[in-house]
Amino acid sequence: MSDDQPVRFSISFALDKDEFLRRTCPNCGRSFKTKADPDDLASILQPAFKRIENEIGDVSISTEHEEHEPQYLSCPYCNHHAESGDMLTGEFQIYLKRFVMREYVLPQINKMLSGFTDGFSSTSQSNSFLRFEVKADFENILPPRPISGPEPPDMTKVEMLCCGKMIKLYDGWYDLEECPFCGTKVQII
Ligand SMILES: [Zn+2]
Ligand SMILES: [Zn+2]
Repeated sequence: MSDDQPVRFSISFALDKDEFLRRTCPNCGRSFKTKADPDDLASILQPAFKRIENEIGDVSISTEHEEHEPQYLSCPYCNHHAESGDMLTGEFQIYLKRFVMREYVLPQINKMLSGFTDGFSSTSQSNSFLRFEVKADFENILPPRPISGPEPPDMTKVEMLCCGKMIKLYDGWYDLEECPFCGTKVQII
């Protein structure tokens, strides 16, 4: 049974009231937030999906923004440079993984299992009631939809004068050395 049609799903991100997404630096473990925009979200999903593909094996997941340029960020605290999609909170990575399992992997498994019962029941025609019951049970395997958020409106908003982008940092953090987005050296006025 091959199944090459693209699977479409929508995913929700927990943003705070200013539409900022919380991130965690994989190097120093500290948090900051960046303004979420569609390009950035696409480049968050791609590496995350790749990681999940590698972990689960045997499934391939692609996003619609296939030829998207990877976006990079520097940590505002330790200047660690990484792909935007690698600067996600652990909580959000778990959410993504559960989301992909719930929306993509488990439905495929269920389809395989119900395909098996279809084949089984076609050899014993009379048992359509049993077949219905078995299918309903497989559908119940799906866990509840994971939920992302809510995201509290903490941290201080800083506008980068070099490129006009916004970032949120820990309250009282003034040691920003370079712009996390474009790398320009920061002068604190
Ligand atoms: Zn860092
Ligand atoms: Zn900049």
